[in-house]
Amino acid sequence: MKSTKYLLFGLKYVLTYRFLKEKTPLICGLVMHNKCNLSCLHCRITERPVDSLSYEESKRLIDSFYSDGGRTVYFEGGEPFLWHYNGYQLEDVVIYARNKGFYSTIIYTNGTCPIDTSADTVFISLDGLRKTNDVIRGRVFDKIMNNITMSKHRALYINFTINSYNKDEILDFCDFINGVKQIKGIFFYFHSPYYGYDDLFLDDIKKREILTRLIENKGKYKILNSRAGLKAALNNNWERPLKICRIYEGRRKYECCRFSGNVNLCRNCGYLSYAEIDQVLKFKPSAIRNALKYF
Ligand code: SF4
Repeated sequence: MKSTKYLLFGLKYVLTYRFLKEKTPLICGLVMHNKCNLSCLHCRITERPVDSLSYEESKRLIDSFYSDGGRTVYFEGGEPFLWHYNGYQLEDVVIYARNKGFYSTIIYTNGTCPIDTSADTVFISLDGLRKTNDVIRGRVFDKIMNNITMSKHRALYINFTINSYNKDEILDFCDFINGVKQIKGIFFYFHSPYYGYDDLFLDDIKKREILTRLIENKGKYKILNSRAGLKAALNNNWERPLKICRIYEGRRKYECCRFSGNVNLCRNCGYLSYAEIDQVLKFKPSAIRNALKYF
């Protein structure tokens, strides 16, 4: 249950964004480091030459984002649960952010470490059933599922990135997750061509077919994307880049994502959580209801 203070903050934010055109920062991502224990087909983050954040730097960035008005912070990597610095662990940074006054703390993880955190929400990447996921992400499906079932966290969600390998088992995956009580929902993304148009990329026609199927099946499965968000993706008309979202990687600050500044990439962007935010800012009820679950 969200606090009244958080709900009022959200309402005020949306109103000032819409009517006064004030675009203060809303969500901040902290890249704790770019180290990862997996080598997924679609990801080259580990090649980025950026050092780990120190605990002091992470606090400084959290303070600075708070002063700018942001109240939601997420932690990512690489794999954020692997981050440590002079005896500090990710949990210390999560606690610092909460004590600072952030209403929502979120972790994006590959799920291979125990999921033991006081962060409000945890998104775990899984890109298919065992065989498919393990082609894309390495042989980790069983380990991830074990960590999910062992976790006592009450807001676990799956991030599923749709690509040419897993596109035909989306509903089978949804069916499987319906039987996993710890998982509250599945958020669907599309593979974005950050590194060019590779074999994983899906064209607009295929994406539209998939989005139509997701909309049709939304009531049957734990599909987290809202109807409004899926329709915005179907029409590919959500506003981007979304400059109210920031990401800090080492000393660099990006708006929207670490690959911003490429119009063609943005047009083919599969980062559908930004389509959700766009729809919240346009007062779409289904997107607002959804956002209250995980922000
Ligand atoms: S590709 Fe463009 S629209 Fe997508 S997240 Fe990055 S900057 Fe935003």
